[in-house]
Amino acid sequence: MNSTPGTEIIEVASGIYARLHENLTNAGIIVGDEGVLIIDSLRMPSFARDLISDVKLITSKPIKYVIDTHAHWDHSWGNEEFPDATIIGHQNCYVEMMDDQWNEEWRSKILTGGDPWAEEAKIVNITPPNLTFDSSMSLYIGGRQLELLYFGRAHTSGDVFIHVPDEKLVFTGDVIQDRRVPYLGDSYPADWPETDDKIAELPIDTFVSGHGPNGNHEDLLEARSFIHELVNASKNAIQEGRNAEQATESVIETLSDRFGDWVGFDTLDERIPEVIAKLS
Ligand SMILES: [Zn+2]
Repeated sequence: MNSTPGTEIIEVASGIYARLHENLTNAGIIVGDEGVLIIDSLRMPSFARDLISDVKLITSKPIKYVIDTHAHWDHSWGNEEFPDATIIGHQNCYVEMMDDQWNEEWRSKILTGGDPWAEEAKIVNITPPNLTFDSSMSLYIGGRQLELLYFGRAHTSGDVFIHVPDEKLVFTGDVIQDRRVPYLGDSYPADWPETDDKIAELPIDTFVSGHGPNGNHEDLLEARSFIHELVNASKNAIQEGRNAEQATESVIETLSDRFGDWVGFDTLDERIPEVIAKLS
């Protein structure tokens, strides 16, 4: 399939695709009888338009639903390209996307980041979900049940999981990634371990993440261990009365044997003081 350069589309189950984008953000594509459901609209309108073109390589059916796994710009700022679709997200995702301060902080970070999409960030019309839920929602697409699940705060306040029970498959957004350190800047470290414990109970064989490759259940448990160990090591450092610098050093030292080769571990130290502050 000749999809957008840098992307690879993998059929993970019949009619269910992971569209992996190297070093950027992944999307999901689920084809039903009447229409298509997209998981994450990606970072900018131009990225959403590329995604829409790639969907047309698979099916001519219309895109009827978009699910935002969470409010982060690189997952949801393409929403405006789907004016005819129902855009679904958690209630807290809606609140975050309506938060002008949050949006403008992200917009200015992107504008000064110098990436090829920086200019486009100026004109994004941030479009929140128009259908929200609190704990769970079921959708039936092509005779198949999708469970939209909320297990509590984690990577943001409104992370949702899209579970396909018949296929033992789950889309995890940024909460669970395969051998990658998730972004911690908007996270809730006090709540995240418990949220991960709930995902770990899902009877799945495969997950599709917001970034990086697909993983299996063992990889999911490893991602959970990372968050547990990060939070435990941070709490220990707090109890020992260490200052931010010493605490960061001891957390990195504790985690490096097991997770040191993960993508993003090299910059984890920049985030530890914030994690410590949130746990203190
Ligand atoms: Zn994110």
